[in-house]
Amino acid sequence: MTAHSNIYPTKALQEIDAAHHWHPFSDMKSLNAEGSRIITRADGVWLTDSEGRRILDGMAGLWCVQVGHGRTEITEAVQRQMNELAYYNTFFKTTHPPAIALSEKLAKLAPDHINTVFYCSSGSEANDTVFRMVRTYWDKMGKPDKKVIIGRWNGYHGSTLAGTSLGGMKAMHAQGDLPVEGVHHIDQPYWFGEGQDMSRDDFGVHAARKLERAIDQLGEDKVAAFIAEPIQGAGGVIIPPESYWPEVRRILRERDILLVADEVICGFGRLGEWFGSTHFEIEPDLMPIAKGLTSGYLPMGGVLVSDRVAEGLMNAGDDFNHGYTYSGHPVCAAAALANLDIIEREGLVGRVKTDIGPYLQERWRRLEEHPLVGEARMTGLMGALELVPDKKDLKKAFPDVGTVGTICRDISFQNGMVMRAVRDSMIISPPLVLTHEEADFLVETAEKTLDDTYQRLKKDGWLG
Ligand SMILES: *Cc1c(COP(=O)(O)O)cnc(C)c1O
Repeated sequence: MTAHSNIYPTKALQEIDAAHHWHPFSDMKSLNAEGSRIITRADGVWLTDSEGRRILDGMAGLWCVQVGHGRTEITEAVQRQMNELAYYNTFFKTTHPPAIALSEKLAKLAPDHINTVFYCSSGSEANDTVFRMVRTYWDKMGKPDKKVIIGRWNGYHGSTLAGTSLGGMKAMHAQGDLPVEGVHHIDQPYWFGEGQDMSRDDFGVHAARKLERAIDQLGEDKVAAFIAEPIQGAGGVIIPPESYWPEVRRILRERDILLVADEVICGFGRLGEWFGSTHFEIEPDLMPIAKGLTSGYLPMGGVLVSDRVAEGLMNAGDDFNHGYTYSGHPVCAAAALANLDIIEREGLVGRVKTDIGPYLQERWRRLEEHPLVGEARMTGLMGALELVPDKKDLKKAFPDVGTVGTICRDISFQNGMVMRAVRDSMIISPPLVLTHEEADFLVETAEKTLDDTYQRLKKDGWLG
């Protein structure tokens, strides 16, 4: 068969897929028994599957398709670059116009103190780069004992060795005997899941002080960096209380420790600013980026590096022995430039802040009135619904965590919309081009999905 042939019936395609294709983060035995969903086309915020059904892409692919699907500005830029220079590397004193132009562009978009970018092909690679960069930085600063990187439980920084280690997903750590040495995890600022005994603001400060305590126990002279997502994405759209980031900043400012803001999801307009760090006024030393950088049209990532760290490493007078064959890949850089051009031209960042963001947030938060929803939260265009069995006791969770979420996710797909399940919360992160009508469809479909899920849970005895 050819890559885009859709002349085979769904069943035949599923069988070939089951026979030969190992999917990421999947129980392949049960997936192969059930058969994968097959997406054949996409346009704007709409996916089309192999049965010809249209489905609203409430997750922007995997949090990445900022400008929507099927944008010919990007595919044409890619084709032009393919014909001109499909590949050359950036090692050995070499560069090329797309990498030059993209670097200038990113330096302009990033906060003032960040003017340098190191390229890779994914968010995971970006965090592998971060891992080596921060340790090498402190070596060059004459502080080789500063090696520990502090991350957070339930943080997500990718799936490679360093990404998995810096992240705080226990199910991932369990496979491959991770984290690697020199990574320490603190609790996350997850008020609904772990903080309901306190006010949100008290809990935010409480969670931040865990960083202070960890640094003071490990010793400031041993700690290289703290890494965190401005809002945790894969962990379940954990929006920290407003008191959290200011307290983290205070703690880090009083100590000589680098701050790494993992912008792989929050970057490129998701929170109504070019970077989530700007939304929270974070001022990081390093910002890993990927996903929205190209809207997923081609794989590309990078680390945005502050002047302080760039100068510290660059002035050391020897090589940073690190890089990838595809660092700054010309075609991916061309895709990124075309993507950033659309985001700028269409004012998508401001649109999230003042138009579609507030519009969707207001409607999304009303879902909290549903009997199944314990909390409905959203910042920018990142939202979550916490499903609960009993609204009178919000601390009570469903048994067999994840099962109800998966039921709800499958019903949502049947109803024509992709929502993701994390534990028993439902997640959305739609393309930034979502129209008001599409936002209405999104919320109506979420509501219908909650109703259907409620009926199903009642019938199956989940609600007592
Ligand atoms: C997705 C993600 C990554 C990993 O990116 P990949 O491109 O999948 O390697 C890293 N950090 C965050 C915050 C992410 O959401």
